[in-house]
Amino acid sequence: MNFYRDATWVLEYVEQEDEKGRLSGSMQTLVLKSCQRYKLKSDPKHLYAVVDSCWRYKALLEKIMKRSKIYDDIPKKKGKPIYSRLTLLLMCHDLLISKQKRIQMGKLPIKEYVLKHKTRLNSELVKLKLKLKVKSLSEIVDKEDSSNDVTPVRWIRINPLRCPKNDVEPVLKELIKKFPQRVSHWSDITSGTLYYDEFVPNLFGVHPRDKITSHELYRQGKIIIQDRSSCFPAHILNPGKNDVVIDACAAPGNKTTHVAAHILPEYTREQTPKIYAFEKDPARANILKKMTSVAGCGQTVEIHVGDFTKLAVPANFKDVTGLIVDPSCSGSGIFGRKSVDSHNVAKKKTETDSEIPDEEEKMVGDDVANRLSKLASFQFQVVKHAMSMPNAKKIVYSTCSIHAEENERVVIDLLLDRNIKEWGWKVASREEVIPKWPRRGKVKEFEQVFRDDPVKCNELADGCIRALPQEDGGIGFFAVCFKR
Ligand code: SAM
Repeated sequence: MNFYRDATWVLEYVEQEDEKGRLSGSMQTLVLKSCQRYKLKSDPKHLYAVVDSCWRYKALLEKIMKRSKIYDDIPKKKGKPIYSRLTLLLMCHDLLISKQKRIQMGKLPIKEYVLKHKTRLNSELVKLKLKLKVKSLSEIVDKEDSSNDVTPVRWIRINPLRCPKNDVEPVLKELIKKFPQRVSHWSDITSGTLYYDEFVPNLFGVHPRDKITSHELYRQGKIIIQDRSSCFPAHILNPGKNDVVIDACAAPGNKTTHVAAHILPEYTREQTPKIYAFEKDPARANILKKMTSVAGCGQTVEIHVGDFTKLAVPANFKDVTGLIVDPSCSGSGIFGRKSVDSHNVAKKKTETDSEIPDEEEKMVGDDVANRLSKLASFQFQVVKHAMSMPNAKKIVYSTCSIHAEENERVVIDLLLDRNIKEWGWKVASREEVIPKWPRRGKVKEFEQVFRDDPVKCNELADGCIRALPQEDGGIGFFAVCFKR
């Protein structure tokens, strides 16, 4: 019941935000915010999966539920129905829409109540499908889902830290059992097939409809769901045995755990290397803690809760050789925003929410240019601070934004900064940054500043990596590596 209770809180929060016209950001962000606000204990990823799906089917489900008369005979206490409308919605969602088609809880009166209406609910579902001339309601929902606002591939990284002797082969064998057919390009992925990524080791693509969050491998932390381009930073940094790494903006911890997957296998069990992870937001830091522990690097990752630019005093981190800097950004490359955004456009509301903790979200009420400019100056500060670490040799800066303001233009501002020039930082060449990845930075942006040096502009743009949402098989992304 705890899960349904938590999911009800989240759904209620989403509904309230919607009613106030403040539905902003992605559904993931809304789930995280409500987890934090209500101190929910359930796995945020599981909550997200259920609430997101329930929200998308809500209008159709409510029609079915109303016609089934499930709301009509809810037992009452002091004149009030004892079951929450949203808990019933979540349960009907699981019963009618989820893959397992069942309510995931023990024998409790509320479950019995819903099951009492099962026949009626199913017959209303059939009637609705006939009326809408569809075989499955997903045909309607997928169409409404702003057409392209979902990832074309679910990317799975095998986590060596949870594999005996760091050997990923047995896990791969397990994956092959579930996805027996191998395809040679991600765009050929269909349900049940497996794609071996050509850019990032131990990374595989499956069809987004093939749910794997209930798989044992996922529960045991042996596989981690992580978008392909989000794997680029740790792959580019490629830290080894002699490296000490800081992840400056770490939660929820995808890149931190990926960094650990590079470093830890190089050590024996007795040795304990350190990875420092900074996270400003305490609630997100808790998620980071959970994620590092599930991924098997909880002992290695030293979490610092607070602002990286203030807490990470360079003199105290003389051992650091490499940094991952993945600060808050506009998130314009992320999926799952469109349906939420379109609600807002339709409602034409101005949004100002001082309680929202993330930089990205604080900017929501500003006009786009102003917002991007504030984000860019914040991103510049964080990278510049990373560059002030006295013995750092390599820094990977990344965003999940498609805007040049947060990407190439931040790189330009960094390259023009006097201190940074003195510290000797340069953009690493294409050869060092996944050379075979075809989509590179925007030359035009560099040409606006370094007009008389076309070679330099091409080299700088080539040193940057871009990924377009959908077109490149995942989220929109930018990454660049600085070295000295
Ligand atoms: N790298 C993470 C991953 O791959 O899972 C995602 C990082 S997310 C884009 C940015 C994170 O930086 C947010 O959790 C945000 O709270 C945090 N953050 C923002 N400003 C920060 C600061 N000054 N110091 C430390 N963390 C910060």
